[in-house]
Amino acid sequence: MYGGARTATTRTLPCTWCNKPVPQPRRWRRRLYCSEAHRRKNRVVEAVGNFLDSL
Ligand SMILES: [Zn+2]
Repeated sequence: MYGGARTATTRTLPCTWCNKPVPQPRRWRRRLYCSEAHRRKNRVVEAVGNFLDSL
């Protein structure tokens, strides 16, 4: 028991960047980042990676 009625149905995943628990909404795709900023950060890193890959 965690002391809350909603804890049983609320799932969380750690943010890819800061490991902060991100609540996972039901019937929705997985949220891997705690904030829009961290989501964008991932896109930037991916873009840089692709750029370096193409060199
Ligand atoms: Zn984060």
